[in-house]
Amino acid sequence: MKRILRTPGKFIVGRGEIGNLSEYILPYGGKALLIALKEDAERVRYGLDKAARSGVGFVETGFCGECCMSEIDRIIRECQGEAFDVIVGLGGGKALDTAKAVSRRVNKPLIIVPTIASTDAPCSALLILYSDDHVMIGSETMVKSPDIVLADSEVIANAPKRFLVAGMGDAFATYYEARACVRSCAFNYAGGLYTQAAWQMARLCRDVLLEDSVKALEACEHSVVTPALENIIEANLYLSGIGFESVGCAAAHGIHNALTVLEETHGAMHGEKVAIGLLVQLILENAPEEELRTVMDYYRRVGLPTTLAGIGIAEPVETKLCKVARRALERPKPLTNHAFPLDEEMIVAALKTVDSLGERF
Ligand SMILES: [Zn+2]
Repeated sequence: MKRILRTPGKFIVGRGEIGNLSEYILPYGGKALLIALKEDAERVRYGLDKAARSGVGFVETGFCGECCMSEIDRIIRECQGEAFDVIVGLGGGKALDTAKAVSRRVNKPLIIVPTIASTDAPCSALLILYSDDHVMIGSETMVKSPDIVLADSEVIANAPKRFLVAGMGDAFATYYEARACVRSCAFNYAGGLYTQAAWQMARLCRDVLLEDSVKALEACEHSVVTPALENIIEANLYLSGIGFESVGCAAAHGIHNALTVLEETHGAMHGEKVAIGLLVQLILENAPEEELRTVMDYYRRVGLPTTLAGIGIAEPVETKLCKVARRALERPKPLTNHAFPLDEEMIVAALKTVDSLGERF
């Protein structure tokens, strides 16, 4: 049985690193296709201008805001005559996923520049596709992970704190989901078993979050860069990214996916819903009370939700929770990465327990 570890070619985190963009682009050639929302490109315009002065020619495609087939086709169509050497995806998750989708189709190297640290997607080879009207329709996998992931800690420090908190929620679940996959010998997203390296990164991810999150949030509050903030950026983007892709996801993300059937959760961020998903997972696993307290305490310290109301689900909840449970079983991956069988009653019971536990602790 083979083990597979998938990682980006290079991961960089540093203050003002966007000013060195040309160093990363020029080895591939002088012409770069930039996929980014206009406002995100403007936020880092000084870095793009500096790269341009160093000899990089940017073709800016703009971005409509959704990672959908019509947008991917538009970008490919519009850049057909341009002989570019590398693709730069810049901004949040959807712009980065669109850059991945374009890179996969035109077979060009990919540099990913996340301007927030709200999920662990930037380092992975996976991308999520949506319809034009924003409904998730599927996923794709690139042949390999991005060639370079460049995180400018100063840019991330200047983004709203809620993004960083959501990234902590996404990353905090990684260890527990990886542990479920290790226990059940589940295959990872690269199609193999976990490596020791990926498993240790998942563990390290949680340790770093427990140690440095509060300090990092304080830095983000003041829009300044500290070692703790850079540790958290590494945990949110890289350690969590390797952990989920190269060990695996479990109920925390399975419940997250199912929660999205409730319209009222759409205002909550991915990592906030994953945070609730993790609590559900721990109830399903009958995790020790001490572990539940550790997780709840962490959520309280950083400002992640601990109740269903915290992700927008209003009373009465009964029929809504049944809907979530049915959805979870209709699309059972990655719930099936647990060694135990699941049914609707178990999931509803766990959701209810989480809700009252959040109030009790
Ligand atoms: Zn996630």
